[in-house]
Amino acid sequence: MNCEYETIIGLEVHAELSTKTKIYCGCTTEFGGEVNTHCCPVCLGLPGSLPKLNKKVVEYAIAAGLATNCSITKVTNTARKNYFYPDCPKNYQITQDEFPICREGYIEIETSDGKIKKIGIERIHIEEDAGKLIHAPSGTYVDYNRTGVPLIEIVTKPDIRTPEEARLYLEKLKSILQYIEVSDCKMEEGSLRCDANISIRPKGQEEFGVKSEVKNMNSFKAVEKALDYERLRHIELENKGGRIAQETRRWDETTSSTITMRSKEKAHDYRYFPEPDLVTLSIDDEWIDKIKSALPEMPDAKKERFKKEYSLLEYDAAILTSNKMLSIFYEKCVGECKDPKAASNWVMGEMLRLMNESQKDIKDILVTPKDLGELIKLIISGTISGTIAKKVFAEMFETGKSPNAIVKEKGLVQNNDEDFIKDVVIKVLSENPQSVADIKNGKDRAIGFLVGQVMKASKGKANPSMANKILKDELSKM
Ligand SMILES: [Zn+2]
Repeated sequence: MNCEYETIIGLEVHAELSTKTKIYCGCTTEFGGEVNTHCCPVCLGLPGSLPKLNKKVVEYAIAAGLATNCSITKVTNTARKNYFYPDCPKNYQITQDEFPICREGYIEIETSDGKIKKIGIERIHIEEDAGKLIHAPSGTYVDYNRTGVPLIEIVTKPDIRTPEEARLYLEKLKSILQYIEVSDCKMEEGSLRCDANISIRPKGQEEFGVKSEVKNMNSFKAVEKALDYERLRHIELENKGGRIAQETRRWDETTSSTITMRSKEKAHDYRYFPEPDLVTLSIDDEWIDKIKSALPEMPDAKKERFKKEYSLLEYDAAILTSNKMLSIFYEKCVGECKDPKAASNWVMGEMLRLMNESQKDIKDILVTPKDLGELIKLIISGTISGTIAKKVFAEMFETGKSPNAIVKEKGLVQNNDEDFIKDVVIKVLSENPQSVADIKNGKDRAIGFLVGQVMKASKGKANPSMANKILKDELSKM
């Protein structure tokens, strides 16, 4: 019997913290580097070495907790999670078990039907990253450079109901972590990783169904796709009377499907126990308050301010504040040109378009907010037309040159000379008698065509509003 199902999704996100050094030793956390050069006896787990907790890691975890509305655990400790795998030289990982630093928080997302939904956060805890296996034709090698890089694991409650909500949650979480600058959240370098748990249950049923865990998604879009695939796989199995296995599955981007990796371990398989080499950690209110007062304006608050201060629409304000650097760029640009609407149009239009096309991140682009502001001022003052401005901007984006330099170099200054434009208009009118006749017969659309011809004849330099006016004047005389 087919029935209607509800999807239940929970996410576990691992974010590498952007501290300079590792969680329990002074080794660098820098990405890459020659294999096995960012390690020492502590992160290699050599006998006799002892870990020492990096204070910054705790501060970053507290900041992440405060930014996601969590309560902070005042007395906390670390625990050993025991497992054998070559990328884990100690054969255990130091993580947290019953006492995560942050608990019971939430993040708000805006669903596609415009509703605000709270996604509960069960816990945020600190732990160390594992090394990396390198598979080569001659054998498998291990690189311990990443071993001991600090992570926070952010675990949601089973509050997510659709693959789309999962993606929206991830986008929001990434934005928050970038705002508070605790992680660079680069999925392509593995500094943000997401595992998803998914199950289905008949609508109205309280009890959860058997869940599968999906790993190996390397983008938020892939998470959404993988969950969509899993949801349909569960429903199909259920409808056929089959059994859903509790297992870990791998997302395969090339076939757009999930594949069984292993049956899921249970928590007791890890034989957690308190880490004997580290002391209990006490976090006092004074420390929490200090971290709280240093938190920047969060994306939601900034979005509301942008709507009010710059009269932006919800959608525009949401895009402009989704990325901290983009929001800073926008505000600096407004500061320069004093035209919030024009700045928003340029950033959201040409700039994001060219960034997408060239796959460039905001921090890598050559255009400065001051230069974009200058460009907008050139349009406002009538020095260049909007059409020319797009060409100038494309060159600014390409070369990083200032708009003034480009305009001067290429002689793109708009022509506001009435006599010059009038000459062009008269020439265009004489060359297009059919259009003139059409206009006389009431077909106003031909005016647009004639303005276009004037712009073309003047190589885009004629002031468009002057061209429009002069054209109409000349037509009325005919
Ligand atoms: Zn080390």
